[in-house]
Amino acid sequence: MSENIERRRFLKCLGAGSLILAPLGCSSVKEEDSNSNRPHYAMVFDQNKCVGCGECKEACNKANNLPEGKSRLMMEQQSGGVEGQKCSHCGKTECDCERKYVRVSCQQCKNAPCVTVCPTGAAHRDPATGIVTMNADKCAGCKYCIAACPYDARYINKDTDVADNCDFCLNSKLAKGELPACVQGCRYDALIFGDVNDPNSYISRLLAVKDSVRIKSHFGTEPSLRYIPIVKQGV
Ligand code: SF4
Ligand code: SF4
Ligand code: SF4
Repeated sequence: MSENIERRRFLKCLGAGSLILAPLGCSSVKEEDSNSNRPHYAMVFDQNKCVGCGECKEACNKANNLPEGKSRLMMEQQSGGVEGQKCSHCGKTECDCERKYVRVSCQQCKNAPCVTVCPTGAAHRDPATGIVTMNADKCAGCKYCIAACPYDARYINKDTDVADNCDFCLNSKLAKGELPACVQGCRYDALIFGDVNDPNSYISRLLAVKDSVRIKSHFGTEPSLRYIPIVKQGV
């Protein structure tokens, strides 16, 4: 399956054909799970800050040795206007006045179907961090996890024939005490990573004061990715 087809499936699934961060299909998030001593690693994508430069994707591909044409992360460009209607700023039906971008990647679900269906235990939750990741040696290439993921966020790495997903750079960066590569690569502070079970972490304090949404929360998988939707000026 080509990357373009996979990407279309992913975006269709996320509802990006209209507006990925439109209220429909998203749920507002204010508080994280409390009374837990275990970490819950999460990531925030701030649409207000993203300029669509793609440096996060490049950093990810390099850090995780991904093959040409594959990525754990994609940036989708969206126009701000409503299809068929004229832009309120320039009057054109197609323009870049309100260009915006959305991160599409594994949502790091708390209830992860990819893990549940994997017959070999290759797709699993890291016991120390709770992050959904892969044990490449166990993967049989059956693609059950790919079929089960409601976000179409998984793919087969053609170099290794192993299923893959964004695991917050568990082995490539977190294991060395570093932030995920995409977070390090973003010069615009559009990506924030941390433990939402730590009330003093920056991500916890950010989520306490900013409205954020989970995409397609009705899937019931409790994604750990949060999106801060763009705030329209003058509205
Ligand atoms: S988004 Fe898909 S691949 Fe990622 S944890 Fe959820 S079910 Fe698994
Ligand atoms: S956290 Fe790591 S694996 Fe996930 S998108 Fe960012 S750079 Fe890629
Ligand atoms: S590096 Fe940051 S600003 Fe650039 S596309 Fe990625 S999230 Fe957006």
